[in-house]
Amino acid sequence: MTPWFDPKLIFVGGQWRPCASGETLPVTDPSTGAEIARIAKGGAADIDAAVCAAEEALAGEWGALSAAERGRILFRLGHLVLEHGDALAEMETTDVGKPLKQAKNDVVALARYCEFYGGAADKLMGQTIPFSEGFTVYTLREPHGVTGHIIPWNYPMQIIGRSIGAALATGNACVLKPAEEACLTALAFADLAAQAGLPAGALNVVPGLGAVAGAALTSDARVRHLSFTGSVATGRRVQIAAAEHIVPVTLELGGKSPQVVFADADLDKALPFLVNAGIQNAGQTCSAGSRILVQREIHDDLAARMADAIGKLRVAPAMEDADVGPLVSARQKGIVDGFLAQAGADQVLAQAPLPDDLPEGGNYVAPTLIGNIAPDHPLAQEEIFGPVQVLIPFEDEEDAVRISNGTKYGLVASVWSADGGRQMRLAKRLQAGQVFVNNYGAAGGVELPFGGVGQSGHGREKGFEALYAFTTLKTVAAHHG
Ligand code: NDP
Repeated sequence: MTPWFDPKLIFVGGQWRPCASGETLPVTDPSTGAEIARIAKGGAADIDAAVCAAEEALAGEWGALSAAERGRILFRLGHLVLEHGDALAEMETTDVGKPLKQAKNDVVALARYCEFYGGAADKLMGQTIPFSEGFTVYTLREPHGVTGHIIPWNYPMQIIGRSIGAALATGNACVLKPAEEACLTALAFADLAAQAGLPAGALNVVPGLGAVAGAALTSDARVRHLSFTGSVATGRRVQIAAAEHIVPVTLELGGKSPQVVFADADLDKALPFLVNAGIQNAGQTCSAGSRILVQREIHDDLAARMADAIGKLRVAPAMEDADVGPLVSARQKGIVDGFLAQAGADQVLAQAPLPDDLPEGGNYVAPTLIGNIAPDHPLAQEEIFGPVQVLIPFEDEEDAVRISNGTKYGLVASVWSADGGRQMRLAKRLQAGQVFVNNYGAAGGVELPFGGVGQSGHGREKGFEALYAFTTLKTVAAHHG
């Protein structure tokens, strides 16, 4: 996999250039541990240059474009993403270890975000407000200005799509700091955006370490909105930095999302969702449905079905496109292995086999089903971010709600039941930003507002809702007598 651009460069003001220090960081293939490229180690000076370029774009060509013209550029970008789909998917697969078909899904999602926000760009309207005689009052939706985007490594293309897509549609100029483990598709996206006609400085991409380049971006007073997806610990730092300059933030911080399976559920339909929600992207998914709550009378049946399905999963290097690939890094594997070490032998209900011929330097973890576990055990409370599902029995509806809502998180939840009344009651009572009934995730759904409550974060991305987050509302009251 050789990118068509030079990944050692940063993209600022519509130009490829070396970072100020000239230093680089390695890009390793998680399937093998081999170094496959190098990226720039951007720092504070590069973030400064990117913010300057973004401000110039707003004052220049980009700021002068109509909403319809911004939308047209996003449409062209969506087409280019699809045209380069195979290259982008292969790039992502070798960069983050995602099985190829999952990377292809991410390409389609990225294109869909460009289309959705391209179409929405000229449909975000203000209101007229009935007010006192002699006044005309209306509201305007205006861009924040320069927006900062800090992206994790698990779904780079999807998160770039939802965050940059909405920010550009509404006329902001973006500075993007991708995760050091996942910069290639972010750089590719910047190149495609330029090809689509995006004016210089409207999108700037600066790879680099979070503690250096990311921190410089969050502490820059000229950045007027921050969008962050990642861990609770780093999200907290981002929010504290934003508070310094009274800047709004959107935080999406993961979860420990429950899937609640009642005895009357269609288990044949549910099973593939229950398994896939835990192993998709090797479990490195903020919305992973990784806590399976099952009504006691069907616990043993579901445990046996899940154990059987998990035992049959195939783990292989990501380009082989098996069910599960490696984790993104040796560090992430260390985190997940640390969690698994907390499980007693009687709590491991099933594990997929790890083939003997897996490359030695790869970050492979066997998909695992954990059971016989109390709802307050760390394995049932913490975001593991690996291919690990926990199975917890419950007695009745009340018990299901109590256990479901009994973590610090609240991102996504699902209810599996044939009872319509129960579906509606649970949809109201589960503390989560999204609740799915008899499905999980709705295949990503770019149209569906997404975000959490509790320590899963705040603010909403995706759907039309994101357009409100990336704009500020101005009220105009004209007195004309
Ligand atoms: P982080 O939250 O640290 O990283 C997410 C992004 O934040 C990366 O771009 C990172 O840059 C950047 N960053 C790191 N430190 C700072 C900082 N001080 N200021 C600004 N930006 C910063 O997550 P990790 O990659 O360390 O993963 C650790 C755990 O976080 C995982 O095990 C998982 O539980 C959770 N996580 C959750 C995600 C989600 O989707 N909700 C996504 C990723 C992780 P860089 O990586 O280059 O240092």
